[in-house]
Amino acid sequence: SPYSAQLKSVIRTVRDWPEAGVNFRDITPLMQDRSAFRKLIDAFVHQYHDVQIDAVAAVDARGFIIGSPLAYELNCSFVPVRKKGKLPFKTLSETYKLEYGEATVELNADAFAPGSRVLLVDDLIATGGTMIAAANLIRRAGGEVVECVAIIDLPELGGSKLIQNAGFSVFSVCEFT
Ligand code: IMP
Repeated sequence: SPYSAQLKSVIRTVRDWPEAGVNFRDITPLMQDRSAFRKLIDAFVHQYHDVQIDAVAAVDARGFIIGSPLAYELNCSFVPVRKKGKLPFKTLSETYKLEYGEATVELNADAFAPGSRVLLVDDLIATGGTMIAAANLIRRAGGEVVECVAIIDLPELGGSKLIQNAGFSVFSVCEFT
């Protein structure tokens, strides 16, 4: 995106959070900056405005912040991929490994009409585990993952490569190395 540098300038790096050695990339300053927030959403809208998209599926919780305005602008439905235990109806679930322990994401079993074309959205790709689990859920629910979309990719962690090796395409607006 022509706005990558501007967007990067309003992403805050918090050293040693949540633990020593981790540089947490904090998008709250980007969202507080109305010009940057608009440019971010507009960059995603522009990327997909002439692609057929039936639904935006977004990952709990920061994915919701970009997924909702994107679904609105693309005039498609919005589907939450939630953390375990939040969805009250019939769900599909995927458990994946974290550096320490594991995590589970869930999706409504009736989220998509068969063959729906789905954009999967989250704020950041680190190891890629979250995106791959969410993309697998979408497939299991009968959707086709058009692309995995993030604001930030951390290419040195290899997540975007893993996602692509799993058969999904990836788009991000900026990278931190
Ligand atoms: P992954 O599954 O290792 O790719 O981690 C990505 C998930 O963890 C996403 O849902 C992110 O919201 C979250 N995450 C990991 N690192 C960061 C960070 O530095 N900033 C914001 N979110 C992060």
